[in-house]
Amino acid sequence: MIIAVDGPSAAGKGTVARAIASRMGYHFLDTGSLYRMVGLAMLRAGKSGDDVSAAAGFAATLDPASVRDADLRNEDVAAMASKVAAIPDVRAALLEFQRRFARQKPGAVLDGRDIGTVVCPDADLKFFVTARADVRARRRFEELRGQGHKVSLEQVLADIEARDARDAARAVAPTVAAPDAIVIDTSDLDRHAVLARVMSLVRARN
Ligand code: C5P
Repeated sequence: MIIAVDGPSAAGKGTVARAIASRMGYHFLDTGSLYRMVGLAMLRAGKSGDDVSAAAGFAATLDPASVRDADLRNEDVAAMASKVAAIPDVRAALLEFQRRFARQKPGAVLDGRDIGTVVCPDADLKFFVTARADVRARRRFEELRGQGHKVSLEQVLADIEARDARDAARAVAPTVAAPDAIVIDTSDLDRHAVLARVMSLVRARN
């Protein structure tokens, strides 16, 4: 069983994907963290986002331990992740790992931008979790403030819109719902309503 959960940032796809995996006993992969690991390595090496060969080199030699690096969740790392994610060689270097992960028994849930379209086009179930940009910005703003970061709502909204635009406009694997994905708009739904809907669809497939 392979379940794809795609969508833009801060729409709630991570929450959905983790909940499915833990309730069904499936493996879970946050594929954004792979692109963030490349972004973090680029920032630490002082590379710019258009340095294609440096990015491809980091993608081909990712250090698995860096998945636990606390800086991975930083906004500058997210921005750099979305720059390197537009580089075809970076995507190609990460593709086989994701596909191998997806084939594990008894099932796997992968969240990202292109799981249902490129990584696992034959996934058994595909969700596209989305929400209005202003709602996503407010959620991210509250999360960042809760962690003690000094940010403004306007800045968070601007960052989210810039990242959405880059992720949607890129030539390779842009963020788009697969034609057979179930679209869940979480703008006006709380966490419990979203999870109840998703879990009833997952259980109907088992
Ligand atoms: O999901 P997260 O916000 O951690 O992703 C960081 C960035 O990684 C995204 O903005 C996107 O550019 C990239 N990404 C991607 N394909 C995926 C997952 C993430 O291009 N499957």
